[in-house]
Amino acid sequence: MTLLCVPLVAKTVEQMMADMAAAKARGADLVEIRLDHLSDFEPRRDLHLLVGDRPLPVLVTYRPKWEGGEYEGDDKQRFEALCLAMELGAEYVDVELKVADDFVRLISEKKPDNFKLIISSHNYQSTPSSEELSSLVARIQAAGADIVKIATTAVDIVDVTRMFQVIVHCHVPMIGLVMGERGLISRLLCPKFGGYLTFGTLGVGKESAPGQPTISDLLNVYNIRQIGADTKIFGIVGKPVGHSKSPVLLNAAFKSVGLDAVYVPLLVDDLVNFLNAYSSTDFAGFSCTIPHKEAAVGCCDKVDPIAKSIGAVNTIIRRPSDGKLIGYNTDYVGAISAIEDGIRGSQGVGKETVSPLAGKVFVIIGAGGAGKALAYGAKEKGAKVVIANRTYERARELANLIGGHALTLAELETFHPEDGMILANTTSIGMQPNVNETPISKQALGSYSVVFDAVYTPKATRLLREAGESGATVVSGLEMFIRQAMSQFELFTNLTAPENLMRDTAMRYT
Ligand code: NAP
Repeated sequence: MTLLCVPLVAKTVEQMMADMAAAKARGADLVEIRLDHLSDFEPRRDLHLLVGDRPLPVLVTYRPKWEGGEYEGDDKQRFEALCLAMELGAEYVDVELKVADDFVRLISEKKPDNFKLIISSHNYQSTPSSEELSSLVARIQAAGADIVKIATTAVDIVDVTRMFQVIVHCHVPMIGLVMGERGLISRLLCPKFGGYLTFGTLGVGKESAPGQPTISDLLNVYNIRQIGADTKIFGIVGKPVGHSKSPVLLNAAFKSVGLDAVYVPLLVDDLVNFLNAYSSTDFAGFSCTIPHKEAAVGCCDKVDPIAKSIGAVNTIIRRPSDGKLIGYNTDYVGAISAIEDGIRGSQGVGKETVSPLAGKVFVIIGAGGAGKALAYGAKEKGAKVVIANRTYERARELANLIGGHALTLAELETFHPEDGMILANTTSIGMQPNVNETPISKQALGSYSVVFDAVYTPKATRLLREAGESGATVVSGLEMFIRQAMSQFELFTNLTAPENLMRDTAMRYT
């Protein structure tokens, strides 16, 4: 079982004691006391409290500046404090590989039975090759570690595969973490690959190293206690990806049907490299978002005909029978059905055979993955499609492809062939953190009776707010998000999506 450890980085002993109690209440297995973060640390006075009165097992670390910590004094005083922590009953002490020999010699006669020495090595620049990592493990073991700790930095998400490999093959307990946003899965998937512990913070801003998630997310979003060696991994591939609510929604859905699966954010720079590196059947399926949807078409062994016509894939399944990658597009149904139902709802009519989009001018801002899905869908429903895009050339290509009309963003401002048009924003303009941006002026919005925004963080974008003020029916990107996620869940699992749960979860977290 992977242990959950909360790092404590408070400046005062009182705050650290309060954080220790909070860590216990949140479900941590142990805490890491970072002595180097205390601003006025006196070993004899403070360790009796911090270690003597601990409500949870403790790992005591006194990290020097030269290894990424805060301590600037000499090693003699540092080692004395760590020895005292051990004598007071600390379950773990962490010491750096560079000075491990000296520390091991110091404690060799005094080590209590239940005490474990962690010997650590940190690399804040990169992740070495598998061979170098293996040789580092051997050196740490030879230095006398009960537990090996290696923390490296992810320059690319592919780096994490090397850490997973080394953990799986390590014969002693190992903490293997890859720092930074690109290394997040090294922290989330520890129980799958057998990592000894993972760090979860008490909150944003309380990290002791880059990329640590909160303990609340580890337990309540990623359901880390349920992850094991057989857990299937799904995830959202994008850049950026941190804003996505898909992990919240899909993990809740997996849990509700008792599926042994986890869904993680995957910050990917190069889709081809990523898919080559994560090619095992453990990685069972992916959602694709900005900017990978179009590249994903070329990365799949087989592409569903609708996704092929759209030219964008937002869902990839690894077929269990032969491991082939199959691409689909669930944005199309999600967006179009959300807009149709939004219009019907505003008109008070039920589902008829004729789509309320038929015959309408349907203006799409954006010509990327989502833009293509909407253009294809609107055309299918009989709308007169118009594409406006920052890069006019892409607008023209898409308009030619589906038989529509292309505009520049400047032309969009005065485009008014008729009243009652439908507008759909499929760019990321207005998405957090740029919530004051909008793709079209409020004045120009007067020509539209229905406005849809694919952006769903925030739920009420500036575009939707101004469209509502102009009297248009507004359709939120959240509705598209819920519907496309339900379709993805069904492709991933072959089960019916738990709609009510997914709706409630989406509403709660956005
Ligand atoms: P994409 O393939 O990368 O396309 C992005 C589009 O936005 C391109 O047309 C791009 O224009 C345009 N764009 C980006 N930044 C711009 C800016 N500053 N000014 C003007 N135009 C800009 O991305 P995507 O996958 O289609 O996603 C687009 C948006 O839709 C994202 O916000 C995404 O979160 C949202 N989305 C929501 C859902 C949902 O379920 N609600 C589903 C899918 C997507 P150029 O061609 O000039 O680069």
